[in-house]
Amino acid sequence: EQQRLGRLRRLPAQLLGGEAVELQANLELPAELPLVAQAGAAGIGLLRTEFLFINADIMPDEAAQAATYRAVVDAMGGDCTTIRLLDWGGEKQSEALGAAGFTAGGGDLNPALGLRGIRLLLQHPAVMETQIAAILRAALGGPVRILLPMVTTVSEFREARAVYDRVVRRLRRKGIRLPDPLPPLGAMVETPAAAIGAEALALEAQFLAIGTNDLTMYTLAVDRAASEVSRLFEPLHPAVLRLIGMTTDAALRSRRPVSVCGEIAGNPLAVPLLMGMGLRSFSMNASAVPRVKQAVRGVSLDDCRRLARRVLDEADADGVSRLVTAFAAR
Ligand code: PEP
Ligand code: MG
Repeated sequence: EQQRLGRLRRLPAQLLGGEAVELQANLELPAELPLVAQAGAAGIGLLRTEFLFINADIMPDEAAQAATYRAVVDAMGGDCTTIRLLDWGGEKQSEALGAAGFTAGGGDLNPALGLRGIRLLLQHPAVMETQIAAILRAALGGPVRILLPMVTTVSEFREARAVYDRVVRRLRRKGIRLPDPLPPLGAMVETPAAAIGAEALALEAQFLAIGTNDLTMYTLAVDRAASEVSRLFEPLHPAVLRLIGMTTDAALRSRRPVSVCGEIAGNPLAVPLLMGMGLRSFSMNASAVPRVKQAVRGVSLDDCRRLARRVLDEADADGVSRLVTAFAAR
């Protein structure tokens, strides 16, 4: 089995009809970089930058951040690295961030609904500016995209865009060399509001990345970390799938790249369904890439589309699970 998966690494990620699919890795720690290459992932679809801040007792400065991002960009050897700005949430706290006054309401009753992600960043533009400047430096080494976490409204995206533009202007004024073209700025779609409003968001954002972990949590009102309700946490619930579908349709209509980077993207049973819905780009734990590639290579686009149409009639996640399982076993 291990050998067979190893051989897969050199084969292209494509459907039976030859249509290309992009399989990328989510990266949480630079230590996982060797795994990305081993798995045969085509770049990083989601670099979670929280690791830089989580155990730090001082705020990492621009140079330190730039060096870390640059190491990842270099390791990708020309494949794209999508770097997400700090996605800090109500329950996450750190010495460095606390000392810098960058704390999200940890005592709030509903931290997931509180000051987090882009909301928190916009309250601390200096943190955001430092991170963007560091990313721009790293982007001199290869293709990079910048991703905003937990966007719910278009106005948040516009505000973040203004911060990005300001950083670019400041660096230009100082005569600092900038990557050309500049890294595109995209939005995570991980709240129902972002998915329902994806049409408007796609006019502003240069790309969309669907985060199904939080999207499932907010859609089904199920805390992704609460064990008492873990049984109810179902990314294959038809309500979640419809929001993924709306986002995908909106992105395709606006000709914006769209990808999925939640855990569902690493599920070989779910990926044919997602391809049937129009998605062609998936970012997952590196270890999932070979199995997902195998699933992609074994199906035709027509069959995936038929599967996606049938799933529309299902009332609950169990029904969807049965269909995708039967599809894989056919
Ligand atoms: C998600 O919410 O699906 C996602 C990819 O982001 P994270 O898991 O880091 O919240
Ligand atoms: Mg998320």
